[in-house]
Amino acid sequence: MKYPPEIIDRVREATDIVAVISEHVRLKKAGRAMKGLCPFHQEKTPSFHVNPDRQIFKCFGCGAGGDVYRFLMDAEKMNFPEAIQLLAGKVGIPLPRAGWAPSEEQSVFPALEWAASFYRTELAGRTGGPARDYLQKRGILPETVARFGLGWAPPGWDGLLKAADRRFTPALLVRAGLVIESERGGHYDRFRSRVIVPIRTPLGRTVGFGARTLGPEEPKYVNSSETEVFQKGKILFGLPEAKESLKNVEEAIVVEGYMDAMALSQGGIGNVVASCGTAFTENQAALLRRYVERAVLLFDGDVAGIRAAWKSAGTFLAAGLTVRIVALPAGHDPDSFVVERGAEELSQRIAEAPGVVGFAQSVLLDKVERREDLIKAFAVLGAQIDDPIRRRLLLQEAGERFRFDEETLVRETASLRGDKGTARRVPGTPPRAPVGAKDPLGRAYLGMLLAAMDPPEEHVIEEAALREAGLRELYSKWLELREQGAVEPRLRLLEDPAYRDQVSELLTEEDWPVEAMPEIVGRLGERVRKEKGKTLQEAIREAEARGDPALARRLLAEHQALKDVG
Ligand SMILES: [Zn+2]
Repeated sequence: MKYPPEIIDRVREATDIVAVISEHVRLKKAGRAMKGLCPFHQEKTPSFHVNPDRQIFKCFGCGAGGDVYRFLMDAEKMNFPEAIQLLAGKVGIPLPRAGWAPSEEQSVFPALEWAASFYRTELAGRTGGPARDYLQKRGILPETVARFGLGWAPPGWDGLLKAADRRFTPALLVRAGLVIESERGGHYDRFRSRVIVPIRTPLGRTVGFGARTLGPEEPKYVNSSETEVFQKGKILFGLPEAKESLKNVEEAIVVEGYMDAMALSQGGIGNVVASCGTAFTENQAALLRRYVERAVLLFDGDVAGIRAAWKSAGTFLAAGLTVRIVALPAGHDPDSFVVERGAEELSQRIAEAPGVVGFAQSVLLDKVERREDLIKAFAVLGAQIDDPIRRRLLLQEAGERFRFDEETLVRETASLRGDKGTARRVPGTPPRAPVGAKDPLGRAYLGMLLAAMDPPEEHVIEEAALREAGLRELYSKWLELREQGAVEPRLRLLEDPAYRDQVSELLTEEDWPVEAMPEIVGRLGERVRKEKGKTLQEAIREAEARGDPALARRLLAEHQALKDVG
């Protein structure tokens, strides 16, 4: 199905790109643009820009950019027809009757949405009695059932398959993770006799399901298989429902189970998200970091829960979040705590929750037999934090609070990290890539510099700020021409066969937002400072390895001074 270009334009114009992107990224005003943490690469300082005037987005960290269609296609893995249908629906522009072009691979999303509604209908229907009883027994109210779209997979091997007949092929249902292909080539339903919990993207599109038994049989939970749209380590349950509340409270409550998340949400604690029943991953922490800067981890108070809390704390700290921890009384999970003691008491505990060092003091201290175990626990936590400064500050606090020998703690952490501390290498890009392909920020700088008629003196930067040799060479030539008093250095560059292609590619391939120049210059300055910081960090590490704490402390102070300048 091809859509007429004027329709594509009309829908784009009627759409507010800021509103669409805000569903994924917490945007803050920055001049006339908005910025936030890029959803397409992991970062801790925002380089992702949305320009409402031009209705485009651009990341100066990884180079991702485009219009609202591009955003949905990349962030929500939609194909173009899905993206335009979604947006046209929102703004109320009718589209010409769409059918899938035969060459186009059929999307799994309609099958997943249909399955969600099938399960919902079953829950309300004849076979759903036991599931309704179960939910009632667990204190799940009808509005919660509706809010989270809960359903019921009926008993039997082919309830869903039969209902899907003629609508979706078994092959598509297998791709969607709903149906399993047997060794003999037959098909059967993945979920049978289970309460169904849909798992959705931040925009609320169903990508998979969690399914719970009614009784004590194992496994208690089964998830959709990993599919082209569902990777459980990359998604947070409850995020679409929690989004609004996260914006208001600016803090996330993090739990492990679907039922925990629903119980809290039902109790009025709306800013809650959960993993899909597995340990929290780096990806999930980075996803959460796009919405909030602070997280409160809620875990069972038994030994396994405490261990899990400690491990997750490391994951969230590593993503740049501030972490506090609530350990519930042993034998309680968040769900049972809300049911028995009420949401108010839980809110109280959340409000009073200590940070990791305080948590260790109030909870961990009683649980460990020897002081060395506590040192180990902090070393394990510290080892997960890549940023050496934040790591050092944590170890410092722990050392002071528990009167540990700080150097022992630092040494222990370093040995756990092994050589994890070395920077990850980015694989090389093909030789014919455009200039600056490996350094999008530097490329943006040069692009804007060339696009501006007569850039002011304060926009001239240190050559060292550019990371790619080709960029540095071009820039140094530009500086040379400017030095010589050339009126428009870019024109001279365009005349020079050695630079002509690069310059014209830079000027024509992208439409550089020249108004963003001061910010780009600021970020490049920051980059130079960071490089200097890194050199210092390496020196600190070396001093620590050599066992020279005095030197390490001096270098740390120097490093702090460098940060204060920035
Ligand atoms: Zn990016």
